Amino acid sequence: MAERAVRLVLLAGAVAMASASQGDREPVYRDCVLRCEERNCSGGALNHFRSHQPIYMSLAGWTCRDDCKYDCMWVTVGLYLQEGHRVPQFHGKWPFFRFLFFQEPASAVASFLNGLASLVMLCHYRTSVPAASPMYHTCVAFAWVSLNAWFWSTIFHTRDTELTEVSGTARRAQGWQRGLAMQGSAPSLLSLWGLGGGGELGLANLAWWLGWCLRNSRRLPHARKCAAVVLLLQGLSLLELLDFPPLFWVLDAHAIWHISTIPLHVLFFSFLEDDSLYLLRVSEAKSKLH
Ligand SMILES: [Zn+2]
Repeated sequence: MAERAVRLVLLAGAVAMASASQGDREPVYRDCVLRCEERNCSGGALNHFRSHQPIYMSLAGWTCRDDCKYDCMWVTVGLYLQEGHRVPQFHGKWPFFRFLFFQEPASAVASFLNGLASLVMLCHYRTSVPAASPMYHTCVAFAWVSLNAWFWSTIFHTRDTELTEVSGTARRAQGWQRGLAMQGSAPSLLSLWGLGGGGELGLANLAWWLGWCLRNSRRLPHARKCAAVVLLLQGLSLLELLDFPPLFWVLDAHAIWHISTIPLHVLFFSFLEDDSLYLLRVSEAKSKLH
């Protein structure tokens, strides 16, 4: 039992260490948060805070302590800049200007727009591809998985609390979409459409898809679209390697990456449509032969 407890403490410590960053280890920041909490977050002061907090902030789970952390983050950033140091991260994140209740406004809006683009293209797919196409249901199911991932990505970037940690898993799930294995003459690229996932499955995945696209590009003109999607997706995911403090305290590399993938939904679904219609023609031709 005791051993178990020790393990748990060690694990909790490891988790805490993993999310700690230079900024929040800074004594100035810690003192500031401590004093702010003492001053504002108990008794009458807390009641005052609550009665003055906009309703959308409390609904989104912003607490008095969170406000202290936010204000003290900017105090610390100010001191760093004054002394000519590099902007530090706090709790594993760059300092972002909060907009309303949005913690990372640019990434949240971009995630929402990725989801919206996916939804619009799904509707387009459903009107232009007959349900008899062999890949129809797979594509539609996949689009819903993707929409779900973008929904959680939007939530995660809006408000990153212990509660939304669940969606850290969702964030990873976006990556695993890449790994969905699909069937069909054109394996239809669904497994590559991980958008959110960075390079988990990496170069092997890239090489496999490019190989498929190139092998089929003579026979199937739309395979070029798939090659373009593979290359753009992998090229754009390099953006994630650039880790810089947010421009205007809004746009970091991650947000730019999310913005850059929005138009790819159009190209990707256009490929899915072409491929599904092609597979439908093939299966119709086969059934005529029998
Ligand atoms: Zn993201």
